[in-house]
Amino acid sequence: MIYFDNAATTRPDPEVVKKVAWCMENTFGNPSSLHKLGIQAQLEIDAARKQLAGVLAAAPETIFFTSGATESSNLAVRGAAGAYGRRRKRVITSSVEHSSVREAFNRLEEEGFEVVRISPRKDGNFSISDFTDAVDENTCLISIMMVNNETGYILPVKQIFTQAKRKNPEIITHCDAVQAFMKLPVKPADIKADLVSVSAHKIYGPKGAGALYVRKGIRLIKQNLGGKQERGMRGGTEAVPVIAGFGEAVRLLGSNMSQRKEYTYSLKKYLLMRLSEIQGISVNSREDAAPYIVNISAVGIRSEIMLHYLEERDIYISSGSACSKGAKSGVLSQFGISPEAEDSALRISFSHHNTTEEIDIFVQALAEGCARLKRK
Ligand code: PLP
Repeated sequence: MIYFDNAATTRPDPEVVKKVAWCMENTFGNPSSLHKLGIQAQLEIDAARKQLAGVLAAAPETIFFTSGATESSNLAVRGAAGAYGRRRKRVITSSVEHSSVREAFNRLEEEGFEVVRISPRKDGNFSISDFTDAVDENTCLISIMMVNNETGYILPVKQIFTQAKRKNPEIITHCDAVQAFMKLPVKPADIKADLVSVSAHKIYGPKGAGALYVRKGIRLIKQNLGGKQERGMRGGTEAVPVIAGFGEAVRLLGSNMSQRKEYTYSLKKYLLMRLSEIQGISVNSREDAAPYIVNISAVGIRSEIMLHYLEERDIYISSGSACSKGAKSGVLSQFGISPEAEDSALRISFSHHNTTEEIDIFVQALAEGCARLKRK
């Protein structure tokens, strides 16, 4: 099997699997219980919190566990707008966000907020001043992703947040860092983010665990109503095994981030070199995009057709435009990619476990697919 769909999800590390199973067997107590079993479960959560805090260079009290980044971003966007948007009704985001942020903003719009969505310029690049020009004294929130999940495009989050805060020191800044976490440095204090969303299953952790960094002093209106878990920020019994698995995944990836990135750059370079040998392939990702995601188009062949052709050969990739039941996200067209290229877009997303040999097999299958499927 060749798995090039790591931006969708990753195969859990065997050590993570062991940790999750161990917790299910051994620390099954409810962390809210006052007895020994509850305390043991709470200790697992505290240990995971410390791991996350460590890589984010933040205090453990700033980390709140959730069920995944979708929940984290919902809490960030809706929670911040609820807390700070009573009088200041303007909110800003980019037009290429993941649906978890995009839909949260759509909901704010329905509720009476003025939503400003900043698009890339004609050349497919974002301009920092387009964001800062949109900030005014009525703006309560700005939310921007760090790495786009369809193209790997790296948004200039630090510069945008720094300038936004200079113009309006009251503004709350949120970053969806899901595709950057443990791949590029994500330090909330450095990028001037008040809120940062991350997810476990993109980093060889289990599904069902995520976290939101909340800078000390930032208030959020709670979205999961219920108990006082996560210091009152999120009701619901904590998913101890997957939270512990999240901590373990972070621990395992803790060092060597730059080596992994360099290695992945070499994979991307090799892939692009090999792809240049195939006629009819265009590359939609920019050269300076994150190396983990490469978006291409086999023009003339619909994404799903090629995806299933490759699947039959035990090669797994994504259609390049994140789809929800056949509806395209529209993100590629925002980056200036033509409708034809969007219809045939494919996303290859790497793990540091992938190899150039796998790329060779993939490229051969892709070339054969291009030749066969175009003829039909
Ligand atoms: N944000 C981005 C950029 C993503 O790529 C994803 C997952 O595809 C999410 C958010 C949602 O993460 P989760 O699956 O943990 O809810």
